[in-house]
Amino acid sequence: MQIEHTNWPEVEKRLRSSTLLLLPVGSVEQHGPNGLIGTDHLVAEALARRVGEDLGELVAPTLAYGMSHHHLGFPGTSSLSPRTMILLVCDILSGFYRNGFRRFYFVNGHGGNDSSLKAAFSEFLLDHPDARTALSNWWLLPEVTEQEKIFFGDSNGYHATCGEVAVTWHLYPHLERPIAPGRAPDPHHEWPLGPERFRTLYPDGRMGSDPSLSTAEKGEVLFGIARRTIREKVREFAAAP
Ligand SMILES: [Zn+2]
Repeated sequence: MQIEHTNWPEVEKRLRSSTLLLLPVGSVEQHGPNGLIGTDHLVAEALARRVGEDLGELVAPTLAYGMSHHHLGFPGTSSLSPRTMILLVCDILSGFYRNGFRRFYFVNGHGGNDSSLKAAFSEFLLDHPDARTALSNWWLLPEVTEQEKIFFGDSNGYHATCGEVAVTWHLYPHLERPIAPGRAPDPHHEWPLGPERFRTLYPDGRMGSDPSLSTAEKGEVLFGIARRTIREKVREFAAAP
């Protein structure tokens, strides 16, 4: 259940049986010429909400913005700096901790967030020793990447991937845009890149992907795998001492 659709007495009552909170986090950034700007937060949000329904746990409002400096050369992208993101996540966690939450499970849709989220966890846990934090990067789950290999071979890529584009077509079929077949350049440069250099090296925004292979049907399969896998991870996280 989404916490924004509840009220405080309901949350107070739920905290007697579970102090877990799911938190979706993504980005507002370009995903190539046919992928949605909101891909990363839309997928993380859908996964967190479905897992929340499956387990009867509360889900926080989506943190849509993430650390996307390298995509700022493309219109429609905006970004938190790493330091802002660390402070923002620490403040969000501290607020929920203050009124009783203790276990925080992030469902992340964007690779650029990973280091800032983990830095935020390190800061937060220093002052909140009885809290627990965890993170799933859904597109890196081995269960997901195995199926992507079957669907897309070596053309899944590293940004605006066939898999993430397929999942958005499953979630938002009316927003589907076709793209001409063809694989984008592979990443083989230093990382991270500044926005100007990123756009020079990856002129249409994709990295190594050919999302002409993406379909809503494949996206439905990948979403189901990610949902089941994250559900089990959250269940274990909630039950761990
Ligand atoms: Zn993405």
